[in-house]
Amino acid sequence: MKKRWLSIVSLILAVSLLAGCSAQGSATTAADTEAAQTTAAETTQAETDQTETTQAETEGTTELESEETDVVVIGAGGAGLTAAYFAREGGKEVILLEKQAMTGGNTAQAGFFAANSTHMQEEFGVTYTQEDQYNFVMETPGVDPDFARLFVENSGPTAEWVVDTLGIEVTSVTGREIYSVDEDGRKLPNQMVSKLTEVNEEMGVDIRLQSPATALIMEDGRVTGVTVEGPDGTYNIMADAVIIASGGFAANKEMIAEYAPDWVDAPTSNTSATTGDGILMAEAIGAATSNMTEFTFNPTLYDNNGVAMSVSGVRYEGGILVTYEGERFTDEMANYSDVAYAEVEKADGKAWAIMDANSLACNPNYAVSADTIEELAELISIDPDVLSQTIADYQAGYDSGEDEFGRTDMRSRLDEAPYYAVPVIPGVHHTRGGLSIDLDGRVLDTNGDAIPGLYAAGEVTDNKLLGNDPVAVGVTFGRLTAQTVLNDLSEE
Ligand SMILES: Cc1cc2nc3c(=O)[nH]c(=O)nc-3n(C[C@H](O)[C@H](O)[C@H](O)COP(=O)(O)OP(=O)(O)OC[C@H]3O[C@@H](n4cnc5c(N)ncnc54)[C@H](O)[C@@H]3O)c2cc1C
Repeated sequence: MKKRWLSIVSLILAVSLLAGCSAQGSATTAADTEAAQTTAAETTQAETDQTETTQAETEGTTELESEETDVVVIGAGGAGLTAAYFAREGGKEVILLEKQAMTGGNTAQAGFFAANSTHMQEEFGVTYTQEDQYNFVMETPGVDPDFARLFVENSGPTAEWVVDTLGIEVTSVTGREIYSVDEDGRKLPNQMVSKLTEVNEEMGVDIRLQSPATALIMEDGRVTGVTVEGPDGTYNIMADAVIIASGGFAANKEMIAEYAPDWVDAPTSNTSATTGDGILMAEAIGAATSNMTEFTFNPTLYDNNGVAMSVSGVRYEGGILVTYEGERFTDEMANYSDVAYAEVEKADGKAWAIMDANSLACNPNYAVSADTIEELAELISIDPDVLSQTIADYQAGYDSGEDEFGRTDMRSRLDEAPYYAVPVIPGVHHTRGGLSIDLDGRVLDTNGDAIPGLYAAGEVTDNKLLGNDPVAVGVTFGRLTAQTVLNDLSEE
C-alpha cells in the first residue's frame, strides 16, 4: 500500500468561521491545496460527537499531513463498498472512508435487492425479464429512460455477483425482489454490506472508520483528494480519483427545510450520518445538483424512545392503517409516499397499524395486543364500535375481493387473535435527488461538464431513477462507476 506521507501546509478554516456559515455553499480554500472546506464538516459535527475534538484542534493554521493513494471512496454503504471492491479488483490502491464507527449505512437497514433475469429468480420459478423491470421503473413519472435502461441491463449481473461472490443464500423471490434472511434474522442488504466489508479488507482496501471526509481538494480544475477528520486528527489524502458514496440527506434538517419544508419536523428512518455531506462538499467545488425536491416519505415509522424505526411490514404483511378515530383512510399497499401523504392529509399525521396473529410483522414489543378487536380498541382509546365496523368492512372486502380503498393485496382477513396495534407516523425515508452525474458516474458541474477526478454513486446522486429500488441502484452504479474510474485512469 502506497503510504507516502507528504508535508503539506494547509490553512484550515477556524471553527468560529464554520459555525457562522449557512447550510449551503460556504467554502474556503486551503493555502496550497485549495481544499474547499464545506459545511459538511459542520453538519458532521452537529450530528456526531466524534469530530468535536478534532475540529477544535484544527482552529487556526495547521500543518496537515498528507498521503497518497489511487482511489478514495467516501462512504461505506452499499454503493461505496461496491465501488471500493471493483476499484481494488481492478488493481488500484483504495482508501474507503466511513464517518460512522461501522460500515453499512442505510443499506444495512434495507429489505431486498431488485433485479431481473437472474439464476435466483429461475431457481424460485419466477419469470421476471429485463423489460418487466424497465417497464416497472419507467412507471415513475420523470424517470430518465437511459438511466433506467442502464440499470436494468446491469441489475441482474450485479445481483448474481452479490449472491455468488459473497455467498448469500437467497430464501425467497417475489418478482424483481430478491430476499435472504439468515439464521440471525439479517436480511440480504445487511448480509451484503457485512460480507463486502470482510472481502474488501481481505483484498487490501484500507477501510477507515470514524473518518468523515470533510472537503474535496481541487487543483487546477481537478479534484485531487479529500480532507479527512480521522480519530487522531485532520489530514489530507491525495488521490487520482475520488468516488463519493456518502448517501442522501434525510437527516440534515437544514437541507430538509430547504428542499421539503413541510417535512422539517418529521422524523427520518435514516441513520444520523445521512446528512448530505457529499452533496455539500461537491457543491462547494462547483458540482451541480438536480431533483433535490424529490423524496420518498415513509408512512410507517415507529417512535422507539426517540429513534424512528421503519416498520413497513405492518402494511406489507396484511395489516391495515386506521386514524386515531378508528377508520381506514387509504389503500395501505399504495406506494410509500402516497400512503404517507394520505396519513398527513386524512389522519392528522398519525395512525394505528392494526394486525392480527397472521399479519403481525414487527417487533411485538412495539405493539399493544388484545384477544378481541373491542379490547384492543379500548386499550388504544378508540371507540370499539368504530374499530369493529372498520374490521368488518375490511373483511367484507377481503371476502368479495372488492376493497373500498381499492386494495388488492390483502393477505390476512384480520380474524385471528391475538390482535395488535402499533402507533405509526410518517417521515423522510429517501432523498431522490443529489449530485448530477452522467451515465458513467462522473459528477457534473453547473455547466453540465464532468469534473475531472470526481465520481459519485448511490443515494448521494440524482441517478434519475427517482427512488426506484435504491439498494440495487446504488450497488449497480457503484460497480459501473468503479469501472469508469478504471477506464479513465488507464487512459491518462
Ligand atoms: C429503513 C430503510 C429501509 C429501506 N429498505 C429498502 C429496500 O428494501 N430496498 C431498497 O432498494 N432500498 C431500501 N431503502 C433505501 C436504501 O437502503 C438506500 O437508499 C441505499 O441503501 C443507499 O445506499 P448508499 O450506499 O448510497 O448510502 P448508505 O447505505 O446510506 O451509505 C452511505 C455511507 O456514507 C457514510 N457517510 C456519510 N457521510 C460521510 C462522510 N462525510 N465521510 C465518510 N462517510 C460518510 C454513511 O455513514 C454511510 O455509511 C431503505 C432505506 C431505509 C432507511
